[in-house]
Amino acid sequence: MNVVQPKYTSLTDLQADLKNQQITCLELAQYYLSRIKSTNHLNIYIQVYEQEVLLEAARQDKIIQAGNFHELGKLYGMFFNHKDVICLKDHPISAGSKILESFESLYSATVIRKILDQDAMLIGRVNCDEFAMGSSNQNSTYGPTRNPHHEDYIPGGSSGASAVSVAVDTCLASLGSDTGGSVRQPASFCGVYGMKPSYGALSRYGLIAYGSSFDQIGFLSHSIEVIEELLKVSKGKDPLDATSIEIDKQESLPNKKYTYGYFSQLDDSHFLDGSIHEAFNQFKNSLVQQGHQVKPVEFSLLDYLVPTYYILTTAEASSNLSRYDGVRYGHRASPADEVLSMYKNSRTEGFGTEVKRRLMMGTYVLSAGYYEAYYNKAQKVRRLLVQALSNLFNQVDYIINPVTPNKPWKIGENLDDPIKVYLSDVLTVYVNLVGLPSLALPWSKDELNLPIGMQITGPRKKDLNLLASCKEMGTLE
Ligand code: GLN
Repeated sequence: MNVVQPKYTSLTDLQADLKNQQITCLELAQYYLSRIKSTNHLNIYIQVYEQEVLLEAARQDKIIQAGNFHELGKLYGMFFNHKDVICLKDHPISAGSKILESFESLYSATVIRKILDQDAMLIGRVNCDEFAMGSSNQNSTYGPTRNPHHEDYIPGGSSGASAVSVAVDTCLASLGSDTGGSVRQPASFCGVYGMKPSYGALSRYGLIAYGSSFDQIGFLSHSIEVIEELLKVSKGKDPLDATSIEIDKQESLPNKKYTYGYFSQLDDSHFLDGSIHEAFNQFKNSLVQQGHQVKPVEFSLLDYLVPTYYILTTAEASSNLSRYDGVRYGHRASPADEVLSMYKNSRTEGFGTEVKRRLMMGTYVLSAGYYEAYYNKAQKVRRLLVQALSNLFNQVDYIINPVTPNKPWKIGENLDDPIKVYLSDVLTVYVNLVGLPSLALPWSKDELNLPIGMQITGPRKKDLNLLASCKEMGTLE
């Protein structure tokens, strides 16, 4: 069985069991390692840190048995993994790309460091789309990861394996990254929670860059509680990332009723796939039954979201990925007569098709002749979007929508239709264009047993309020 009842969904319960000696860290490590082995066919892990995790589990058990809990950090007993774009000191990291196949990181990402400082245990590194570009986890040099609910289907992407690793209970949480939906969309396709914090809430130091003004590390888990714990320990300003910020404290909001807005276009039955439309209606009804208000809001920029996102992210990617030239990092093509051919050959051999497509697109929109028409115009649309969303948050507390307008597709499908795949990002990318915090929550399942998730987005820096407000929402399943 791929998808099993998770052993733990809550860190509080897990730590209570450790305290009461119902379970040991070592037993838990062995359980997760056995889950990793029995789900090997889904192609989730690129590397498993078995020896490291067993040693650390034994160390924590000793402290627990001696009752010296003050020696342990807040996340003791938690097992987590990291997407292949978040660096760990002295360990390989490859962004799912051949070009970084033999690369080892010299430092750890700030987020990983902060989580390890609190005694969580890092169990392995998981697959993803190359340089986090994609929506299906098929653009990886390690091959596709499979959806555990139906193995013929994609798990979503780019943090596809992160979502699968949680869904099949190989860990309590996974660190993913979200530039335009890469945490939330796979979370939705695999039936787990996935959160993208406000832009800057977590340091990007040690996150391999795709689109720097969009990129954000995020969390996937079985519960909001675990995500909240991870956010609390890893958030905050970092001297190593000038764009990092402090987010607001959690306000206490007992029994508060909210106003949820949704883009009025979602009422049009053509916009959403049939079963997603139905699931969204059930979600809205459930909020109303809980005493909240739900209303459509006017949003005229919907058609511009995907083009703006792809112009700006490919532009940023073409600049960020210029460092992979065969000299400074990773793969180098065999000797050529002169240096330019060496650059070209290294990049030609090292990058996959989707990355090449985006680098060409990004170079084009930044080129002297087209800069004004594309890049500059997209920046202006981004500014309008920031204003539009800020106006919307004067009318509503949160914005809701299904995470995607469509369902997961079959592995192998849509490979020759990138535009169709880009368009499926329409309901996640606005969040990154504006830098908002957003949560994907598992809601229901379709006729093939594939999960459908809902997305709740809040005002900037109100990440902790957003999580608190979602705790009561429940699921339909
Ligand atoms: N699917 C989007 C893209 O391909 C999102 C990727 C991401 O968030 N990293 O760009």
